[in-house]
Amino acid sequence: MPLYTTDALILRTYKLGETDRIVVFLTRDRGKKRGVAKGARRSRSRFGAALEPLTRGRVAYFEKERRELVSLNYVEAERSPMQAADGDALGHVGYFAELIDEWAPEGDPNERLFRLGASVVDALVLGVPIGPLARYFEYWLLRLQGVYPSHVACGRCGADFVSQPQPGACLQPGERVFTCWSCARGGSGTGAVRGGPLSLDALRFLDEAAATGPDRLGGVPFPARAARELEAVHRALIATHLEKELKSARVLREMQP
Ligand SMILES: [Zn+2]
Repeated sequence: MPLYTTDALILRTYKLGETDRIVVFLTRDRGKKRGVAKGARRSRSRFGAALEPLTRGRVAYFEKERRELVSLNYVEAERSPMQAADGDALGHVGYFAELIDEWAPEGDPNERLFRLGASVVDALVLGVPIGPLARYFEYWLLRLQGVYPSHVACGRCGADFVSQPQPGACLQPGERVFTCWSCARGGSGTGAVRGGPLSLDALRFLDEAAATGPDRLGGVPFPARAARELEAVHRALIATHLEKELKSARVLREMQP
């Protein structure tokens, strides 16, 4: 029964029996795993608070042949989102963890996804504003899956979004590409546009997100209108690709003033 030690991000836990928990975690090098943490629900458990979602740390586990569940030996927290002082930031922890869980297939190594999650936890703890950080996370998560549309040129006619008579982009409901305003109107210039717009400010934020680490987002312009546009467009893209809305996303929206 081999023992593996690796860096991991805790994604979520479930109760198991009277005293144990099942832990879903994303390892740096061996993909997503599910394991049993024996005694994790006892008051003086060796796992302590290390099983909170988005905790990053060293994890050791035993893997048995032909068993889907591994057996957790220890979790040593190195960075916990609980270190973030901001309540709004803490409210997003479950959302980020649920998104990673939804997009990470079991046992499929994806080190870039692990690094994205780890860098976002670091940024949360550093106090990076949660608005731009959440949009950054969604952008990169979708991009790493290869499904974030080009934010530079129209997915239909190829025209770039900046030098159009009406600059900016548009996401029509259910679509997987951004289009220019002309294509969104069916080329006639008169058709109704139902989709979410992305103004030049929103497109500029995406330029920055593509080139910047999450720890630098505090210095990136993030006007309120661009923030609203990106939130709506990302929600639509995620719902289209996952074919559902996440529970944690709904909770977050209900918490907003
Ligand atoms: Zn077009």
